[in-house]
Amino acid sequence: MPIAVHNPTTGEVEKEYAAHTPEQIEAALAASTAAFETLRRTSFEERAGWMHRAADILDAEAEQVARTISTEMGKTFASALFEAHKSAKGMRHYADHAATYLASEAPVRPDQVGASRIAVRYEPIGPVLAVMPWNYPIWQAMRFAAPALMAGNTGLLKHASNVPESALYLGELFARGGFPEGAFQTLLVEGGQVLPLLDDRRIRAVTLTGSVGAGAAVAAAAGRNVKKSVLELGGADAFVVLPSADLDAAVPVAVNARVGNSGQSCIAGKRFIVHRDVYDEFEQRFTSAMAATVYGDPFADKTTFGPMATEAVRREVHELVEDARAKGARVLTGGELPDGPGWFYPATVLSGVTPDMRIAREECFGPVACLFPAENAHDALRQANESDFGLSASVWTRFPAEIELFSTGLETGGVFVNGFTSSFPQLPFGGVKDSGYGRELAGVGIREFVNIKTVWQA
Ligand code: NDP
Repeated sequence: MPIAVHNPTTGEVEKEYAAHTPEQIEAALAASTAAFETLRRTSFEERAGWMHRAADILDAEAEQVARTISTEMGKTFASALFEAHKSAKGMRHYADHAATYLASEAPVRPDQVGASRIAVRYEPIGPVLAVMPWNYPIWQAMRFAAPALMAGNTGLLKHASNVPESALYLGELFARGGFPEGAFQTLLVEGGQVLPLLDDRRIRAVTLTGSVGAGAAVAAAAGRNVKKSVLELGGADAFVVLPSADLDAAVPVAVNARVGNSGQSCIAGKRFIVHRDVYDEFEQRFTSAMAATVYGDPFADKTTFGPMATEAVRREVHELVEDARAKGARVLTGGELPDGPGWFYPATVLSGVTPDMRIAREECFGPVACLFPAENAHDALRQANESDFGLSASVWTRFPAEIELFSTGLETGGVFVNGFTSSFPQLPFGGVKDSGYGRELAGVGIREFVNIKTVWQA
């Protein structure tokens, strides 16, 4: 993809950027390596001070940052503003907790392993490459940047090619907070330029959030080079509604799951699996609430959701809908490409989706919901697990036994009961199966890119 601000609301290219030259990439790698030698010798307190200052800058500039996000990828200004402040909160979380997360440990008494002294230390490993997507341009990158820097690693950000201004902002933010020059840099490179970077010995590890194809390519290159990778690759999350569910609460959350961020969220409900006893009522209430949403200008107050981020993502979403329609799915609302400029797509609900339809198996990254009836709770669980993905799931019930059934039975990295699937700096985030491996956020997230060093002394 060429590196450009291609405004999804108008379809106009507003600004193009040249990819970094080999000389610029070499300079960034050298700066990252040099900054690591400085950063690894700083204390948690020093790094926390810089991280707090960077978070203060982000909060103070949140409106400008939100305008950039909405212009580049089309989410509503209100949700972009929320994202900027949430990112600052995530930075403060790691500033305040990194020292505890990475404190040395003594898991057994020294004499149990024949030593006079033992320690397990968590030490930084060096420059880490982050390949990031456009759907949460600041938050996704921050989930990597804040723990990496607080651990004492340096970061190189290869952001999605359609969000260069968010990328450049992040490339300066941490130095403005006080981190050494070179500690966190943006590389303006296209997807096709990423793999050779992993052959460079100075890059010690890689994290990628995005599609399964990009993740598999990057992980293969990392594996060839014996480098660690963390992959966060999206999902086809189940949203399970059982007869005791509070539909007044579930329906608006279901709508938000599908139209929030124009449906371009890895962790949002996509497959709505509804018990037969409440199926008709849920279908009717959910479909009319979806039909009542308003897509349009991300900066207008009345807009529920903006355009799709890229023309390609909209095309892929519509192809999934057309494939399902051709194979017999019913389109209860939406499903038509609007005329006019911009990459808008209406809130869409499909029923009668069968396993031969692509949308039953693939991630649909747009405001399209599929409804599936379930005979009972066990059937709902079986359907929920019948996916190549395993990121997260949302379950709606008042019965403790059903909560237990789904909490233990779901093959996902997260289970949300009677609430919206989301990410929190304090809680691990990630998936199983094609949703990837490794975890972001919380203590486990910061420990992904450290050298866990055992020290044993006779
Ligand atoms: P991609 O996976 O192509 O892009 C994500 C990041 O990976 C971008 O920085 C991209 O760079 C980079 N990239 C792409 N191909 C390669 C490669 N072969 N080697 C190294 N890096 C690569 O996502 P798309 O934007 O194309 O979206 C396609 C689909 O991916 C969506 O419809 C959705 O299903 C899924 N997706 C999931 C996300 C999630 O949150 N888990 C986020 C985004 C997408 P560049 O932009 O330069 O191509």
